[in-house]
Amino acid sequence: MATASPTPADEARYRAVLAALEGFPKEPHRLLDALHRVREACGGIDAVAEKALAEHLGLMHGRVAEVVSFYSYLTHGRALVRPCTGLSCHLRGGSEVLNGLRQGPVDADWTVMEVPCLGRCEMAPVALVGAEVVAEASVESCRKAMAGGGEGAQDGPLGDPAEREWRSIPLGEPVADLESWKTLGGLEALAKVTSGELAPEAVVEQINEAGLVGCGGAGFPTGRKWGFVLQQRAEGRTVVVNADEGEPGTFKDRWVMERAPHAMLEGTLIAARTIGAAEAIVYVREEYDLAIARLRAAIEEFRAAGLLDAVNGTPAVDLRVAVGAGAYICGEETALLESLEGRRGMPRLKPPFPVEVGYLGRPTLMNNVETLAHVPAILRMGGAAWAAHGSNGAKGLRLFSLSGDVERPGVYELPSGTTFRELIETHGGGVPGGRAVKAFVPGGAASGFLPALALDTPMEPQAVRDAGSGLGSAAIIVLDETRSVREAAAELVRFFEEESCQQCTPCRLGTRALHDLLRRDDAELPEGTPAFVERADAAMRETSICGLGMAAAIPLTTGRRFFPEEFEGFRHGDAS
Ligand code: SF4
Repeated sequence: MATASPTPADEARYRAVLAALEGFPKEPHRLLDALHRVREACGGIDAVAEKALAEHLGLMHGRVAEVVSFYSYLTHGRALVRPCTGLSCHLRGGSEVLNGLRQGPVDADWTVMEVPCLGRCEMAPVALVGAEVVAEASVESCRKAMAGGGEGAQDGPLGDPAEREWRSIPLGEPVADLESWKTLGGLEALAKVTSGELAPEAVVEQINEAGLVGCGGAGFPTGRKWGFVLQQRAEGRTVVVNADEGEPGTFKDRWVMERAPHAMLEGTLIAARTIGAAEAIVYVREEYDLAIARLRAAIEEFRAAGLLDAVNGTPAVDLRVAVGAGAYICGEETALLESLEGRRGMPRLKPPFPVEVGYLGRPTLMNNVETLAHVPAILRMGGAAWAAHGSNGAKGLRLFSLSGDVERPGVYELPSGTTFRELIETHGGGVPGGRAVKAFVPGGAASGFLPALALDTPMEPQAVRDAGSGLGSAAIIVLDETRSVREAAAELVRFFEEESCQQCTPCRLGTRALHDLLRRDDAELPEGTPAFVERADAAMRETSICGLGMAAAIPLTTGRRFFPEEFEGFRHGDAS
């Protein structure tokens, strides 16, 4: 097939892209970073830009093109209008904002793009217009932001910072700089590690005593994970911070990075010193402009203070931020590694696990933002003292993202084991208008639903499992008595359908089929629907590569279990 000759405009653009890449390392695994640099300098990535990138990095054009096509944002510049339609925003009219914007008129310079969760559920419905965060968005407020170039405020309303009590991670007024962090006890824990007062094994012991578990959703014991990496003999241990928060209802990591970036970075450095890592990378989702800016500024402060230099037998730490490009699945740890290595963010088969074979094949310690941000407080106060903050038999403290039908949505630091009722009624101010709670999502989209009868369950992993769900990322979305759980389940399954990376057949077809069934009335459901749902659920749980496929049916199965009257067509005739 003949290829069209490049036009003078193509040639000029090709040269402009190469100029933008001047000085950028010729390392193929840095492809995503290179794509961002070109997108910033030259606008959305097109075929000409792909060819220039391929030449600079020594890659095939097709390899660059497949990566570009995997992510939502790379082909676009920054003139994007992104209304959120995640469940919390959907409950407050986010889908109507999207539809209104799609009906136009919208200036030709702007592209309207639906986002399944912007991680700003406390501002629902929310939209991003360029870099501007439009809280409690409407079609009109989005248009106004477009008229202003989308360069307004990057953060939403803070609420009253004085009301934000904390013992582990400061979430009130943002911590302004490293000096302010020190006045809050910052760097004391790091000093214990770098001075040798706490040897690596002692650090792990303190974290084990604290009972800290991964706060991103999986809940794996953090101290054990650090211990596994310490046991690895291969060279090049690396720390990766998973800041690709994206599950509907979850926004606590954004609060940490915007308000207490130094806490998380101190935790990251402690991890690097403990395992002897010379490289630490924070992978943040693209939509978190303010968090990215504050992290980068804080990293420069750490660097200027000499905190990244070699010390006491541990190497200098190359600490940097990498930015995603609009793919929820990159929050899965192996998909994140693929993305960091310049490929499409598709989960890998496990084992091997990242602690053995992670970033560029090295032993890699990957932790969530909140998990690492607790570490300085744990080492400052001692693991046992931190654990003693828990209640109802649980250990320690935890951040809870609260949104949906509640008066005061936001992030709350509370003792692990606090009940859902206390979070929703006391801290969140209850349901607006004096209405009752009908159901709630107890731990992010992958946890499905629990009924109001479970409100007295302690927010602690085992107790929530016993109640029939999971604590996951500790994101609680409240549905009041007027809501349809079936419609909410359809929204959550739609999220999984849209975010599936498509590499496993059961996940690809199962999410589509379950979403389709949930959109139908009972009279339109085919015969055998209940048995089909069970087969699909089993196939997805047993054969999916990653947790997305394994959990995708849970909104339907928990809805059917706890709200049978709304799921008649999904139940066997004699089901009770
Ligand atoms: Fe991709 Fe779904 Fe398979 Fe996960 S389960 S790897 S999201 S297709």
